Amino acid sequence: MKYEGSIYRPPSEADSLILQVAVGCSYNKCTFCHSFQGKEFRIKSFEEIKEDIDEVCAYGPIPRIFLADGDALIIPQPGLVRILEYLKLKIRGLERVGIYANAVDVMKKTPEELKELNSLGLGIIYLGLESGNAEVLKRIRKNATAGQMVRAAKRVKEAGILLSITVLLGVGGVDLSREHAEDTGKILSEMDPDYVGALSLIVVPGTPMANDLQSGKLVLPTPFELIRELGIMIANCRFTNCFFASNHASNYLPLRIRMPQEKEKALQLIREVLKRKDPELLRPEYMRAL
Ligand code: SF4
Repeated sequence: MKYEGSIYRPPSEADSLILQVAVGCSYNKCTFCHSFQGKEFRIKSFEEIKEDIDEVCAYGPIPRIFLADGDALIIPQPGLVRILEYLKLKIRGLERVGIYANAVDVMKKTPEELKELNSLGLGIIYLGLESGNAEVLKRIRKNATAGQMVRAAKRVKEAGILLSITVLLGVGGVDLSREHAEDTGKILSEMDPDYVGALSLIVVPGTPMANDLQSGKLVLPTPFELIRELGIMIANCRFTNCFFASNHASNYLPLRIRMPQEKEKALQLIREVLKRKDPELLRPEYMRAL
């Protein structure tokens, strides 16, 4: 396999084969994101991708494949169809293909095109909401409004594709902490995804957000304030059936809950942690990572 630069994948794709079909992110302007800095976006040629698939297809069954990099759903429909058809033909035991996308990528596909991708094996789309608050989305230069992301979410679900949403605790800073948590819970409810992954903001040097932090424009919430955000967010979530996880290494309080069934239990735990304010209950700082 030939990978260009660092490769990122969702935590739940840890056991998947990562097939790099594009390099970088076609947008690459979110102020907190360091993942694809310095990588010029390009879609790999089918010949390059085919070579990788031909190389791995000899190695037994591969149940899951993740298509990297940052928003591979941007690949025009004929190209993606060709990749998925070839994977179907060559990979034994393939059960699911996953991909990162942003709302613009999703809305560029018609409902029929998404259904076609689903019929060819695309089983899950990972989309970064980060925040449901309009001001926060503007500040972090996300390339879509909350409303556009809700519409994109609905289109994904209507195509029969699983939807996994990422949100970012702390991204509203101290001043918008409550609004960020409340609005994110509400927008998540409108999206009604299958999975939610909550991460906590870690500001990476060299990003525009690091400048905001340095200039004092952004003040980060404390660990317990982040847990308070998590509680407000969960309290505002109304899901049909969703697996909500805050067990990513960036978080201070790892949770894995099925909603709506375990919502009250999670809120009780958060209330208890906030009452005791005991740092021993939190993941130690040195163990946090992106
Ligand atoms: S769309 Fe995703 S990958 Fe691209 S810059 Fe924003 S957060 Fe990073």
